[in-house]
Amino acid sequence: MFYKSYQQIRADLDEQRITVVQIVNHHLEKIEEYNPNLNAFLEVFKEEAITKAAQIDLKLKQGTAGRLAGLVVGIKDLFCLKDHLVSCSSKILEDFESQITATPIQRLLDEDAIVIGRQNCDEFAMGSSNENSAFGEVKNGVNPSRVPGGSSGGSAVGVQTDMCQISLGSDTGGSVRQPAAFCGVFGLKPTYSRISRYGLTAYSSSFDCVGILSKSIADTELILEIIAGSDERDTTSSRKKVPQFSQSPIKSNSYKIAYFDEINEAEGIATSVSQMMNQTMSSLKTSGHLLEKVSFPFLEYLLPTYYILTSAEASANLARFDGVRYGFRDLEISNLESMYKKSRTQGFGSEVLRRILLGTFVLSSGYQDAFYTKAQKVRRLVKDYTEKILEEYDFIISPTTATTAFEINSKTIDPVEMYLSDLFTVQASVAGIPAISIPFGEDQNAMPIGLQVMTASFEEEKLFSFAKSFKIT
Ligand code: GLN
Repeated sequence: MFYKSYQQIRADLDEQRITVVQIVNHHLEKIEEYNPNLNAFLEVFKEEAITKAAQIDLKLKQGTAGRLAGLVVGIKDLFCLKDHLVSCSSKILEDFESQITATPIQRLLDEDAIVIGRQNCDEFAMGSSNENSAFGEVKNGVNPSRVPGGSSGGSAVGVQTDMCQISLGSDTGGSVRQPAAFCGVFGLKPTYSRISRYGLTAYSSSFDCVGILSKSIADTELILEIIAGSDERDTTSSRKKVPQFSQSPIKSNSYKIAYFDEINEAEGIATSVSQMMNQTMSSLKTSGHLLEKVSFPFLEYLLPTYYILTSAEASANLARFDGVRYGFRDLEISNLESMYKKSRTQGFGSEVLRRILLGTFVLSSGYQDAFYTKAQKVRRLVKDYTEKILEEYDFIISPTTATTAFEINSKTIDPVEMYLSDLFTVQASVAGIPAISIPFGEDQNAMPIGLQVMTASFEEEKLFSFAKSFKIT
């Protein structure tokens, strides 16, 4: 049993060739087979999923089942699901139970999807390899000596190994797209504000997006259609009408596509990746698209802008984890201040501490103008410049990542080296525009390569149209 899309699942359910209980059991078997080694799920809601499956089978019989009956979903452990733990892969929240359910999760549940468990990730979504989890690293299903990418690594591996049909992750600077590329699945970061963030633990609020990991564009379209749209609990969520993505056809076979020369020649880009890119670009030309080289003079400013702004926001967002209101508290304390200090020092891992320190520094008086305010200005320049390109072109394409999945432990000692893995993904995050990673080949070691396609805000439909027509040659 392997379903590329939910459409096929639903057809089999409607024809009574399969039951929801069987589907859930299938994914549970996959979890049993792979999870002890790959560590993608931190907790599996086994009994609950089976009970729910039986209820949904009944609903199907009665003709009252929702649009996602039989869809099994994994959720990054950053989403709240009422009465379930949510740890953000951090010791500080190890035993913390959600009081609410995140809006995108609720919208899936309302359509009878089943949440099968919480997925491992980098602590508070900070990382690019899933090695920053307090509960152990996640391994790549193609080759377990390699990382799955991060921070939504468990979510990517869940889909890659069929432990679930789709996953919900979060993408602040590439955390859905980069692991999708490393694991050979589809990863969408929609336009900022397209999906409500209510119930998603905040890392950097002006960047955070809920994202979708899937095996097909059809599933991405359907899920986005169901979870997107305004939410009174998240005032930043967009009120724009949500198109019926799942019904939309391929709109054109001839798009105007821009690419940056700076990227294909960027230092550190793997030969396998640039070869694949060149091959793809010529095949896109042959199939009728117009490809043009465009200059992007801000490439070297992207990472500093992203890391200054997100660390600043993270230092503010994570201030609430103080040992009083949530989770872990160190008990060997003498006064209030030492309680804060000890609880936070013990509770957070080193990458999270590094970013809190960096963020506090760039916001401190005397340095704020030089770093934070300046980075805000550069963000505006990047956004304006990117939007200008996208007024003229339908898409900007690049590889999702400069290399394929790297060896576990190969980058942990040098944070800057690790940050470089986000070089191509942060532009869409800084600009707030949608971007997707499409699996489009493998390197000589069979490690997957991802193609990133960016487009203008709220043009996800066009992104899907292109992705559906895109054939790997
Ligand atoms: N790897 C990036 C970071 O560490 C992106 C993380 C994310 O998108 N959540 O910040």
